[in-house]
Amino acid sequence: MIKAKKKFGQNFLKDESIKKKIIQSMPKDDDLVIEIGPGLGDLTKELLHARKRVTAFEIDLELCGYLQKSFNSEIKEKRLRLICTDVLKVWERGFLSEEKYHLVANLPYYIATNIILRALEDIKCRSILVMIQKEVAEKFSAKSGDKSFSALSILANSISKTEILFDVDKDSFDPPPKVVSSVLKIEKLKEFIDKELFCDQKELEDFKHFLRAAFGQPRKTLLKNLQTLFDKNALLKQFELFEIPSNARPHQLEISKYHLLFKNRDHLS
Ligand code: SAM
Repeated sequence: MIKAKKKFGQNFLKDESIKKKIIQSMPKDDDLVIEIGPGLGDLTKELLHARKRVTAFEIDLELCGYLQKSFNSEIKEKRLRLICTDVLKVWERGFLSEEKYHLVANLPYYIATNIILRALEDIKCRSILVMIQKEVAEKFSAKSGDKSFSALSILANSISKTEILFDVDKDSFDPPPKVVSSVLKIEKLKEFIDKELFCDQKELEDFKHFLRAAFGQPRKTLLKNLQTLFDKNALLKQFELFEIPSNARPHQLEISKYHLLFKNRDHLS
């Protein structure tokens, strides 16, 4: 009997109906599926049953040994590739895969945000379907005016379509986590995949830098926050041009206005 290890964020999904709902929510094409953290292989089994080709990254060597035995024939038939390593280290070195893929995972909560951010920026990754803390799912999917609307929501919704599909009760896991979870679906926009949006990594990095400044002090006005990067008078002119109230707080602004300000940043210095 393998015991769940806290340090690897292990909460195994036990509810059969939730596993089925996750599989049903996946894109119907036959692109590669990457699973992060297969654990005891419950979701992996469903994926293979749905005739998906799967590459799975698992950090825990004890679980890896168990998975190698349980999926011996699927590995031999090359329907499953099991890579026993820290997925974040692979991303640090480059891509998870040479071919385009869909990411699916019941993510370890301690690195969930980090993994989603990596996958968002990974051009090979076409969609993301993950189970994460409800609070984190809300941050990624929040719309302008929502309490959780943040730099993270703007980044995610600038390059993809985000949607919380359903919540999952603590009792669906063994051991149960401390918080309620949600299944979040993220579909990359065609314009991002085709590099019409953020055509190079530098532009994306600049946009992230701009957003960090905009939300630097979320309770202060956007005008005040952006003054850490730009000239106040130039900002006031652009605010007037784009009909942005000078007393607007960062979470009140539509995403399209952030895009306008960013695109015209040359006029702000
Ligand atoms: N997919 C299984 C399930 O649904 O029951 C397990 C999910 S459990 C929440 C998270 C899994 O991610 C564990 O198997 C854990 O060992 C693995 N994991 C944690 N950190 C990882 C990392 N950096 N790279 C790859 N796998 C990781």
